[in-house]
Amino acid sequence: MLDDLNHGIDWQALDAAHHFHPFTDHKELHEQGVRLITSAEGVYLHDSNGNKIMDGMAGLWCVAAGYGRQDLVEAATKQMSKLAYYNTFFKTTNEPAVLLAQKISQIAPEGFEHVFFACSGSEAVDSALRTARVYWQTLGKPEKKIIIGREYGYHGSTTLGASAGGMKDMHRQGGDMPNFVQVLPPYWYGKGGQMSPEEFGLYAAKEVEKKILELGAENVAAFIGEPIQGAGGVLIPPETYWPEINRICKQYDILLIADEVICGYGRTGKWFGTDYFGIKPDMMTTAKGLTSGYLPLSAMLMNNRVADVLINETGEYYHGFTYSGHPVSCAVALKNLEILENEKLVEGATAKGALLREKLNEAVGDLPIVGEVRGVGLIGAIELTADKRTRKFFEKNGRVGAICRDHCIRNGLMMRATRDTMLFSPPLTITEAEIELFAAMAKKAFEATYADVRAEVAQ
Ligand SMILES: *Cc1c(COP(=O)(O)O)cnc(C)c1O
Repeated sequence: MLDDLNHGIDWQALDAAHHFHPFTDHKELHEQGVRLITSAEGVYLHDSNGNKIMDGMAGLWCVAAGYGRQDLVEAATKQMSKLAYYNTFFKTTNEPAVLLAQKISQIAPEGFEHVFFACSGSEAVDSALRTARVYWQTLGKPEKKIIIGREYGYHGSTTLGASAGGMKDMHRQGGDMPNFVQVLPPYWYGKGGQMSPEEFGLYAAKEVEKKILELGAENVAAFIGEPIQGAGGVLIPPETYWPEINRICKQYDILLIADEVICGYGRTGKWFGTDYFGIKPDMMTTAKGLTSGYLPLSAMLMNNRVADVLINETGEYYHGFTYSGHPVSCAVALKNLEILENEKLVEGATAKGALLREKLNEAVGDLPIVGEVRGVGLIGAIELTADKRTRKFFEKNGRVGAICRDHCIRNGLMMRATRDTMLFSPPLTITEAEIELFAAMAKKAFEATYADVRAEVAQ
């Protein structure tokens, strides 16, 4: 039907007239025009100008199983025909929600047996933050309500999520609820100075301890952190970081929330980032890869410590969403997790990621503007730098990143820039041949970026 309508419509003008986009400067967008994505299969996107673009970001970190999968489509239509919707509020449930909760608790770390469903990562985070406060309230410690997060942290765009995250622009625009604070992120490349990564990992973790002592542990409900900070620039903590955070949260009796919305469901080569880093969380928030983006769904996991209190002592918890446990989303998630298992996409991410970093290092590693290629499994980043040796950033941070991103897209590769850090997170289904092509396109784009930077300096 949409195909019939495709002709004779000025999609850009129509979009500009009525569609208000997320995270967008609309004036700028309307001047430049929007890109219309019309179809996708495997790791490739197609736009209305006939471009075929390799999706190096898996949409927004979510399309783990790749595009155009009929098995996911069938799982959705089958469930939709049988039971399209019913709520899970009033002592009712549905088959896919039950089975999915069971499946998630089977792949989750030991002691995680209870799962709450929502539609988005933001809602899962919001739920975890409220749950942390309700947990302490139930235990007679209502003053324990401050949430500690980190600069450059991203925990979604609800008002609580924005407040927990460390994005200054989001704080400025209303995402600044009281009782949220942020500390130094474990971003060695950008903030480590002369310290070794191991020293800096400990140093950054101890900043959390310092903050707890400053606020009083009796006032702090939880620490929230992404195992790897995704939107903030794929900041991979040194290996000393998470064990020290485990110790600190335990010592001061602070709940630890791992925001696994990106890392969860295989991106790191393990089911969860928590498994990769040995994190000992009390709650985990997951979304994106859960359905590979085919339908909206998120899951908030509680360990038995938290669940026992909420289930046995809180009484009614006045929290939930119309679409909590949506049967069609849950059916798609079940099929998606089956795909990740059957096609060994989780384990496969380790070797594929190593190959991708090796090829990217060969392709762009020697360029004077490339400071570092880093990654874990199939999530990674390339730092653009004005001076390789001192890890110096360019002036007007973000400008060269935007130039590089535009060259990438022009060369057929979708990458994203955070400041001057280029991010990648392709579908877990990417093949070796596609990895080679990814690196070849990156080479062209980064060389063009270097040429632009040199031309500016020469002026
Ligand atoms: C994307 C993301 C969220 C928010 O998820 P939405 O589905 O966009 O609400 C929360 N936390 C992390 C770590 C994310 O990457």
